[in-house]
Amino acid sequence: MINFTVGPVQSSDEVCRQGAQQVPYFRTAEFSEVMKDNASLMMEFANATKDSKCVFMTCSSTGSMEAVVMNCFDENDKVLVIVGGTFGDRFAKICGIHRIPYTALTLRHGQKLTAKMLEKYDSRGYTGLLVNIDETSTGVLYDSEMLGDFCKKNHMLYVCDCVSAFLADKFDMQSCGADIMITGSQKALACPPGISVIILSPKAIERVENSKVRTMYLNLADALKNAERGQTPFTPAVGILLQINTRLHEIKNAGGVSSEVERVKKLADYFRNSIKGLPLEIISESLPNGVTSLHPIKNNAKEIFRILKDEYHIWVCPNGGDMADSVFRVGHLGNLTIADYDQLISAFKELHQKGIL
Ligand SMILES: *Cc1c(COP(=O)(O)O)cnc(C)c1O
Repeated sequence: MINFTVGPVQSSDEVCRQGAQQVPYFRTAEFSEVMKDNASLMMEFANATKDSKCVFMTCSSTGSMEAVVMNCFDENDKVLVIVGGTFGDRFAKICGIHRIPYTALTLRHGQKLTAKMLEKYDSRGYTGLLVNIDETSTGVLYDSEMLGDFCKKNHMLYVCDCVSAFLADKFDMQSCGADIMITGSQKALACPPGISVIILSPKAIERVENSKVRTMYLNLADALKNAERGQTPFTPAVGILLQINTRLHEIKNAGGVSSEVERVKKLADYFRNSIKGLPLEIISESLPNGVTSLHPIKNNAKEIFRILKDEYHIWVCPNGGDMADSVFRVGHLGNLTIADYDQLISAFKELHQKGIL
């Protein structure tokens, strides 16, 4: 199979070799060193300030989205949520469940967010902003700097879900002023699913430390305290954390975060240029590097996904909900090459000749 989904994605050989090892005991100085190294590389790649902190959660990234909302906000807050698709919707649902007052700024699928659209929320007492920097479900990239300016002006806590943007699109916590960055192991980090990562600015740390949240497993103050000694409150996904360490060093040795973003961008550009002339419409007005969301003009998206899987041994990424029949996505994350894209494109061309695409 060639995997063009947006996660889990293909891992490097080195990361796979690490995954084949026995999983070690973890309450040791040696494992603490690995955890501190992971935290320091993550913060370097996100360009977080020196007094920021990084925690590793053993849960998928939705767990970290929920942990952040629960630990940073309460019923006295007023949160603005950018809803451009499934993941924005998820933030809104989490606020609802935890009774945090919020307003959803809802966009059409694929629509670009502009500064003008934010104007009516300016100086209206909002205390926080929740956004998925790459709304992976529709493949829309939001402008992290523009949103950061808005948050700074309104003194809002700026929460960036960068699950599919980190290492794929340029994202710089200091330059955009992000207070929280969330990512996960199975997207551009290209490791198995199971770990999500939260980087917190001093302002976010202060919120977490003053929080009265009632939770055991998702308590970020507890996670922060344990992180000081390179540990976690409970048994983490030890094996995946070791794979993350391998992967972070791979990126560092290959030139760091900017080289990795450039590598992903090259794959995305190659793919987008190669499908010109096929009946596939790119639905996004603001493309991220990590994913291309496509509307097949003539046929059913779910059916194309199935045929590629069963007859070509290629996974593209189906969509859910009301986009299931009309949109599928092609990812550019993980261990993929131009030759892999050539195979996908020739499959598209064959399907087009047969009238299936
Ligand atoms: C993948 C993803 C998530 C998290 O999904 P999980 O299934 O919980 O790992 C959250 N936000 C965005 C933008 C994503 O792409």
